[in-house]
Amino acid sequence: MRKTLLTLTTVCAAVVAVQGQTAKPAIPRDAALEAKVEKTLAKMTLDEKIGQMLELNLDVMGKMTVENAKVDREKVRSVLQQYGRPDSEIEAMVKMTDQEIIDKLGAFPVDIYQGETKRLWKINEAMLDTLISKWKVGSILNAPGSSAATRDQWLQWISLIQEKSMKYLGIPDIYGLDHNHGVTYTLGGTLFPQPINLGASFNTELARRGAEITAYESRAASCPWVYNPVVDLSRDPRWPRVYESFGEDAIVNSKMVVAEIRGYQGDDNNHIDQYHVGTSTKHYFAYGAPWSGKDRTPAYLNPQMIREKYFEPFKAAALAGTLTMMVNSASVNGVPLHASYEYLTKWLKEDLQWDGFLVTDWADINNLYSREKVAKDKKDAIRIAINAGIDMSMDPYSVEFCILLKELVNEGKVPMSRIDDAVRRILRAKYRLGLFEKPNTGEKGYEKFGCEEFAKASLKAAEESEVLLKNEGNILPLAKGKKILLTGPNANQMRCLHGGWSYTWQGSKSDHHSEKYNTIYEALCNKYGKENIILEQGVTYNEDGAYYEENEPQISKAVAAAAQADIIIAAIGENSYTETPGNLTDLWLSKNQRKLVKELAKTQKPIILVLNEGRPRLVADIEPLAQAVVDILIPGNYGADALANLLAGDVNFSAKLPYTYPREINSLNTYDYKVSEEVGTMAGAYNYDAKVSLQWPFGFGLSYTTYEYSNLKVDKAQFTADDVLKVTVDVKNTGKCAGKEAVLLYSSDLVASVVPDNKRLRDFTKIELKPGEVKTVTFELPAKNLAFVGADGKWTLEEGDFVLKVGSLTVNAACTQTKTWETPNI
Ligand code: BGC
Repeated sequence: MRKTLLTLTTVCAAVVAVQGQTAKPAIPRDAALEAKVEKTLAKMTLDEKIGQMLELNLDVMGKMTVENAKVDREKVRSVLQQYGRPDSEIEAMVKMTDQEIIDKLGAFPVDIYQGETKRLWKINEAMLDTLISKWKVGSILNAPGSSAATRDQWLQWISLIQEKSMKYLGIPDIYGLDHNHGVTYTLGGTLFPQPINLGASFNTELARRGAEITAYESRAASCPWVYNPVVDLSRDPRWPRVYESFGEDAIVNSKMVVAEIRGYQGDDNNHIDQYHVGTSTKHYFAYGAPWSGKDRTPAYLNPQMIREKYFEPFKAAALAGTLTMMVNSASVNGVPLHASYEYLTKWLKEDLQWDGFLVTDWADINNLYSREKVAKDKKDAIRIAINAGIDMSMDPYSVEFCILLKELVNEGKVPMSRIDDAVRRILRAKYRLGLFEKPNTGEKGYEKFGCEEFAKASLKAAEESEVLLKNEGNILPLAKGKKILLTGPNANQMRCLHGGWSYTWQGSKSDHHSEKYNTIYEALCNKYGKENIILEQGVTYNEDGAYYEENEPQISKAVAAAAQADIIIAAIGENSYTETPGNLTDLWLSKNQRKLVKELAKTQKPIILVLNEGRPRLVADIEPLAQAVVDILIPGNYGADALANLLAGDVNFSAKLPYTYPREINSLNTYDYKVSEEVGTMAGAYNYDAKVSLQWPFGFGLSYTTYEYSNLKVDKAQFTADDVLKVTVDVKNTGKCAGKEAVLLYSSDLVASVVPDNKRLRDFTKIELKPGEVKTVTFELPAKNLAFVGADGKWTLEEGDFVLKVGSLTVNAACTQTKTWETPNI
């Protein structure tokens, strides 16, 4: 009886607290579910609570053995260099015995061996038992050695984990995987184009559907939680994770994240069924703007940019009910996100009343002392992070977190109320996912796993996401019957089409799992006949080295082969990578590859460049040598088939660039740059200028048909903050074939009290038009969306003129009354 009363009062207190707050909870609370959370929480010991807050890597509860392993020390050296390890460590490591090296590196998905080896991972049940019974660990992540496993293996491992969790804790585990663009770590499932491609498609429905399929296939492996969507605005082309988000714009990322959360979680965030999963929107926030261009390095951003742009997609995700978020590993303006009470607790949990949980990125609490130097040791780092608002520590290899956090609570340095808040959030997510009732989902059903219907969805997404950037003299579509020389390192390899997070963390070895999918060579042979395709790559990647290393080029062979061809398709770009291994020293596309194109151009045969890359690598010196350019970005399992369909004209191009493509290293501007970033030559003695030199602008993309925009209208020539503007425009297909057109609505604030952005995307949609067909597109634009964050940090909509733009049309509208908001969000 006492217990029931206690539970009731706690629930009432929680409800009163919520009612007293200004913002509505991002996910409407379900009273029955909240009562279950409170009941479970009330029964837990401190050790159990702390255990729920720890997430371990699966590798620690198993053993990887590598059969036939003979270590190649040059490979060890190269791997360690790639990961940026210091010389002293590298030298020490290469002096170790084979077994010592295997013990240190064997669990990682890196090739350090001579010849073929076989890796075998076995779960260590005794260890699992200890971790759950003694340390009460509430979450486990990742695939053994960060390499994909079969569905059966997952079912076996996860059900064992759940069995022990229910036995010892009565609380299910929440298992998490980086199923980023499809089921990365589950063999036989579907891989989609990377998020950057979905950004290029400007089609939110494709994103929703892809997420829904990934959710289904994840649950088929009993995995209830994915570390996705990624909405780091990719605003620095040098950064190695550009392709993991939907591009540089806040609205594109916001609309895509809402669509994906719906696809992943379904329609009821409180009751997520067995075909849907919880999301972890990441990496909260501003990860995509490292000042050095290197992964996990600091960003320096002004407060307006943070609030107006970087925070925006995360706000959208919170309001759409993402169950969890993962935090940016780096710092903004000197404050590591993992240590920021302001950003974690105030902005998200208080201002938005978001009741999901925050998980750290990989060992990031440790990084507060080991890398960021804002804490003196691990205990200090845990104190800072938990008090800042971190709810779960992804501390992959250690249970020290449990010991140290307990000490901190007992010493009064982390309040019990904070622990309860964190655990309440974690339990809430587990209840929302239905894990208490059904910890495993995958045993029965899921007949559609890896089915044809899902493959078609992936193909469609790829077709809508490959961007036609140049088509001189309408050289494309490419008629059948011509002899094609296919060249370049990306011509015959699945790995580049998949990118990172594909079967393995770095996407290495992905060709082993992709036999049933077509490389560009295979897809072109299918489309144009094998007898018409000459494959001479000229440059190939060194599969044993770092992702960007190439073998000794054989350009003359490709040039000689060109003599037999009518046309050249050069498939160039990047090999797969993510995170630190993808750091660059030079944004230019590799010298070898540019040389290949230059030498081939001397043959005078027409060249089609196919760019297969995760970020815009500079190509200014070879672009003029090509008649056509297609940027396929990283299009996934069916990316090459999509390309063949598009090149042949069986499908029309409809994608547009989701980022600005620079022409030179000193023009790394985004499309929404401050107007004074670009200045033409001034009159006067000193001819000052600041010219931005772009290869292709954001939102640029051609098609086989043409569209005419007309009748751009806004229903109110004058407005105030509370109005909703109705913007309409007619779009006509004036060409000869059907097509899809992404219609983008921009605005420009002509004069503002802080330097205005050149233009801002406000909304977009995609429509399908037959030849001659006209459609009227209507955008409902709340006038408050035209506000900006002023120098005082407050949202402001200023009196004055705005220009609305669609295609090359513009229409003016004037705000007649300035409004400044006192609330952090509007
Ligand atoms: C990455 C995250 C990922 C996590 C778990 C980290 O290194 O930054 O994006 O979700 O690992 O694998």
